[in-house]
Amino acid sequence: MGRREAGSLPQRLIILGPPGAGKGTQAKKLTEVLDVPHIASGDLFRHHRSKGTPLGIKASEYMNNGLLVPDEITTAMVLERIQPPLDMQGYLLDGFPRNMFQAQALDDMAARGRPVDYVILISVPDDELVARLSGRHICGACQASYHIKTAPPSTPGRCDRCGGDLLQREDDRPEAVRVRIRVYNEETHPMLDHYARSGKLVEVDGLGRIDEVAERLLKAMHLGPSVGGP
Ligand code: AMP
Repeated sequence: MGRREAGSLPQRLIILGPPGAGKGTQAKKLTEVLDVPHIASGDLFRHHRSKGTPLGIKASEYMNNGLLVPDEITTAMVLERIQPPLDMQGYLLDGFPRNMFQAQALDDMAARGRPVDYVILISVPDDELVARLSGRHICGACQASYHIKTAPPSTPGRCDRCGGDLLQREDDRPEAVRVRIRVYNEETHPMLDHYARSGKLVEVDGLGRIDEVAERLLKAMHLGPSVGGP
């Protein structure tokens, strides 16, 4: 993807959507285009869990069951990465904030530094989310993502990229997926009104090919194809 002069591009963004909407995939593409750090709260928690830190041990019981990790732990972990003056280098927050408490904590922080430019919502219907998540397999070594039907590996159970074992995420089990969608509908979705009122919310249809969704996303932010183009 190409780049334009920094300064004319949005620098501080939030990407939201239900589990399985494709936030991580789109966030990776966008951070390349905008040249800002990708801060994914779920990835930060998984990193802590794999290292066995006290924070990771505490978070894992919530994560495995599809529940939100308590707000104080989550906000401290995320905000320390982007608080002023770090906000000057920009950020793309992926999966944070997920409720009004977290949104308020981010607003309070932004009031001491620079404002958020856009809040992007990727919308996908519930039945499509369940189909996507229940077929998702992740490489235990390099984290590459596959889908048993729509993006299978060449050899079943093996990562094409590094040969690692493919695993199902604990929270992609059907019971946990149902909880995650319920938590999203009850806690995260109501928070969207807050961003709609601020005039920063842009909604993008998350159905279709990855590059189609990426194009919609750039358009929604009034960025032409030259920004994300080949
Ligand atoms: P994700 O990869 O974004 O689906 O996040 C995986 C899990 O990490 C979630 O199901 C939660 O248990 C936890 N998590 C990630 N982000 C947050 C957040 N903003 N607030 C609370 N828990 C979170």
